[in-house]
Amino acid sequence: MSKIQTHIKEVKLFINGEYVESSSHSIFEVKNPATQEIIATAHEASYEDVDRACRAARKAFEEGPWRTMSVAERCSKIRRMAEIILERKEELARLEALDVGKPYHVALEREIPRAAENLSFFANFMEQQGGETYPMGEEFLNYTRYEPVGVAALITPWNLPFMLTTWKLGPCLAAGNTAVIKPAETTPLTVSLLGEIAKEAGIPDGVVNVIQGFGPDSAGEYMTDHPDVDLISFTGETSTGKAIMKTGANSLKRVAFELGGKAANIVFEDANLDKAIPVSIQAAFMNSGQVCLAGSRILVQRSILDEFVEKFKQAASELKVGDPQDVETKMGPVVSEEHYKKVTSYLEIAKEENATLVFGGKRPDLPDYLEEGYYLEPTIYIQENPNARICREEIFGPIVTLIPFDTEEEALEIANNTDYGLNGVVWTDNLQRAHRISHHVRAGTIWVNCWFVRDLRAPFGGFKKSGIGREGGHHSLEFFTEAKNICIALK
Ligand code: NAD
Repeated sequence: MSKIQTHIKEVKLFINGEYVESSSHSIFEVKNPATQEIIATAHEASYEDVDRACRAARKAFEEGPWRTMSVAERCSKIRRMAEIILERKEELARLEALDVGKPYHVALEREIPRAAENLSFFANFMEQQGGETYPMGEEFLNYTRYEPVGVAALITPWNLPFMLTTWKLGPCLAAGNTAVIKPAETTPLTVSLLGEIAKEAGIPDGVVNVIQGFGPDSAGEYMTDHPDVDLISFTGETSTGKAIMKTGANSLKRVAFELGGKAANIVFEDANLDKAIPVSIQAAFMNSGQVCLAGSRILVQRSILDEFVEKFKQAASELKVGDPQDVETKMGPVVSEEHYKKVTSYLEIAKEENATLVFGGKRPDLPDYLEEGYYLEPTIYIQENPNARICREEIFGPIVTLIPFDTEEEALEIANNTDYGLNGVVWTDNLQRAHRISHHVRAGTIWVNCWFVRDLRAPFGGFKKSGIGREGGHHSLEFFTEAKNICIALK
């Protein structure tokens, strides 16, 4: 059994400034994916609980003072939230590692600091914003104001729970909206603390509410259908995005969707493999491959295929798979039994499709106490047929497919041969080619000779079925604000 336990044994709902139990007394279990131990129970929000949270958020929005206070005051409270997160970063990182199965040091060094930055960045960014005036001579004054939209439903997935929720909450609050948050049912722990952190930072009751529960016919759907909710910011699967859009259409809610991905990581023969290999390993196996931006298809120019395969396989064999709480661990388990079944079903699919297994494909050897964990070795296939399912579908686990190509045209065709368009990666020393590929891959972000480098001002989001809208800098603020034009007769 794992030695680390969570201090949160009971995950409650946070509504109107206080922790409350589910009105239906329904609870669900929260498991450590490394061991299958039940680490906590969570209260499942009933319709009445969701209704109470949405009404609290509506009242806090309408009656203020959140919406009407000065931007400086509002943003200083959001910055205080960021400080509290940093003060509690060890605790938050432990919880995230236990709940998701990700390495503790990754949560501590990257995700929790980034969560704090998500809040402080948007607080600082909001303070820089103004409106426009349109000169109309002496008779009229014409100007714009950017006002908050209202109550936002923020619905997030289990792969980066705290980081992704704060990425939405930062701009939502900075613009003066109020929020009802729902983390994924698999990973409720860290996000459950956001309400108390907001309260400690001086944010008024009702502005940040956190509910817990499932999606369809449950808390998630109740939120997206609720008449008090004006806008929905959702990150998760493409199929869920479609369902949310249908439900939200009943009351014409504004939506922003960050959905699935199947990035092509294209390695040309002139690439610097000393850089491309370690970064491609990270892109394939970080967070056990459970990253929307994962480089899960590696397109390798045939002239370097053998060399690439040897070096990539060697690097994968050096990845330490183990207990997420151990500082040496580079890769933990996948998040849940359900997800493990989905991911490992692709081992069978790969076999049926005659892919060549290069590395992995089974449970790793681990200490006894991890033997129930949802572990899979880093797994590498070569698949010549780019139409095979492992080349086109999002697996969202530690399985990567190498696809050989001969020419640049062929690489582009394969890269675009998917319904997704979140991101792409190119490895080449040829500047013209780097630009050509960047222009023609149909995806929202292209990284050239790097991966996962972000500037929070830059747009982030997907082409095709990878999303609707963009997050980051003013793109996020546009979603969370209404532009109002005011025209005043001066005479
Ligand atoms: P998911 O769609 O199953 O669930 C996400 C959230 O939606 C959960 O909180 C869930 O309870 C809720 N939900 C499910 N059905 C709902 C419904 N009908 N109405 C309202 N809410 C509902 O996604 P997941 O399995 O938690 O996460 C993995 C997916 O997220 C992958 O596809 C991944 O690519 C995607 N993702 C995308 C990004 C991005 O920025 N584009 C980032 C991270 C993850």
